[in-house]
Amino acid sequence: MAFGQVGGRRPEPVVVHYRDAAVNEELVVPHRWPSARRALQWAVLVLTLASGVLTGCASSSSAAPPAVPETAVPTAAPTSTVGTSTVPSPASATAAGPVRHVFPAAGKPASYGTDHHDYPATDIFAACGSAAVSPVDGVIVHWRADDPYEAAADNPAYRGGRSAAVLGDDGVRYYLSHFESVEPGLGVGSRVDAGDRLGTVGRSGNAAAVDCHIHFGLSPDCPAREWSVRRGVIWPAPYLDDWRNARNTSPADEIRAWAAAHPTACADAAAEPTAADAG
Ligand SMILES: [Zn+2]
Repeated sequence: MAFGQVGGRRPEPVVVHYRDAAVNEELVVPHRWPSARRALQWAVLVLTLASGVLTGCASSSSAAPPAVPETAVPTAAPTSTVGTSTVPSPASATAAGPVRHVFPAAGKPASYGTDHHDYPATDIFAACGSAAVSPVDGVIVHWRADDPYEAAADNPAYRGGRSAAVLGDDGVRYYLSHFESVEPGLGVGSRVDAGDRLGTVGRSGNAAAVDCHIHFGLSPDCPAREWSVRRGVIWPAPYLDDWRNARNTSPADEIRAWAAAHPTACADAAAEPTAADAG
């Protein structure tokens, strides 16, 4: 296994390829500082090579790498000292592209449609008990570990059964419901990464007579309790297509446009008689 035991021979001492030092410096240095004296010798050697033998190479091709640290210092210093309030907005976070997105049903083949009854959302059908994961880096803003749904009452606030919503770092709220079980230790306020397990695919809520699936909705976050925005306002299928193919596409632009076109949506939803149960 260990390379040092192959053929019973001792491994060759870690002799640095000094001729390649200018190229392999970053790889070699951590293993080659037995003493400050050796370090000094190294520095002298590198400087000698850089200023003498390698001047021709530097001018013809790779003059840029040594210059990068020097130019980076003066540009970084002013911005760090001037900056006062640099809290990134969801818009800037999206533009920078750091927020990760993944397909929310992990591990098993899953299928979903481009349509949904009554309102924009989709149902992702997957094996009962397989993992439902957070589709985004974000914070849990809705968490229902129990299943109070009763068919006779058909309270729309409980139709999702065991469910979760994650407010993504891109400003979009991602809602997943009908879990068979929820992941222990999580709750409102928990920080999750894209791909973190939220629960298992099931048929809680009003899905008892349907195949196991995740109801999946995309929406803007609402400040008050409600369910009718959270369940979904735009069509998720194009984003699911991208995430399943490892393309990191955010619905943030479409959600912002929807919110701008529906400025009273959250207030209207919170005014529903059953909104107080939405939790
Ligand atoms: Zn659904």
